[in-house]
Amino acid sequence: MRRPVVAGNWKMHGSRSANHTLLMELEQRVETEWPIDVVVFPPFVYLAEASRILDGGQIWVGAQDVCAEAGGAFTGQVSAAMLKDVGCRYVIVGHSERRRLYHEDDAQVARKFAAALRAGLIPVLCVGETLEEHEAHRAEAVVARQVDAVIAMNGISGFAHAIIAYEPVWAIGTGRTASPQQAQAVHAYLRGRIALQDANIAGQLRILYGGSVKGGNAAELFQMPDVDGGLVGGASLSADEFQQICAAASLRGSARH
Ligand code: PEP
Repeated sequence: MRRPVVAGNWKMHGSRSANHTLLMELEQRVETEWPIDVVVFPPFVYLAEASRILDGGQIWVGAQDVCAEAGGAFTGQVSAAMLKDVGCRYVIVGHSERRRLYHEDDAQVARKFAAALRAGLIPVLCVGETLEEHEAHRAEAVVARQVDAVIAMNGISGFAHAIIAYEPVWAIGTGRTASPQQAQAVHAYLRGRIALQDANIAGQLRILYGGSVKGGNAAELFQMPDVDGGLVGGASLSADEFQQICAAASLRGSARH
């Protein structure tokens, strides 16, 4: 059965002392027996320290982005091998803020996905439609295009070692969540699209929902059959909220055992 994932994207927030406090609290609050994978994604400069603090515990560390290149003259960039070297297990690729603010296109995201796989990291591929696309009923067409670009470059087998996060752009940081039914419809569509090429990979693939997930709405989202957890932004900075979200995911995990 698919093991739920709760992933906390800290974005550009934190400081050494605030991170320490938050991570120590999370270590205490995330129960070891919960059948879920929990990951935090601090900014690059804090990754090594977060890995040290969490070493040996049940919370994993991931990065918010990665360079598509393996190394060399790329000032300011960080390679997948470097992320692995400082203890990362996961990396987000194609977050909507990277696509929108830094003009990353589908091909570049696919190259980042490939770089992550080559280094032995688990890519968390973000897909999702803008408000305009949502209102034009184009959600499925948009996520299909975004996923197909990754398949074209990496083959379907890349998804045997990856996670997808469906993050409707209109729901990120807005307080406006997709309804459980809306999320389920797109998740089922994504799984079906992967299944056209490999039913086994599709059946195992974890598809997370992201977009204003909070302690109060996580349970109803995670009850949907194709919603395997959440990619959480704002609420991942509060130990209370994040704990509630993890607890909701653990109910799903337990129900499926
Ligand atoms: C995100 O940053 O990916 C996200 C989903 O943010 P929020 O939970 O704040 O909407």
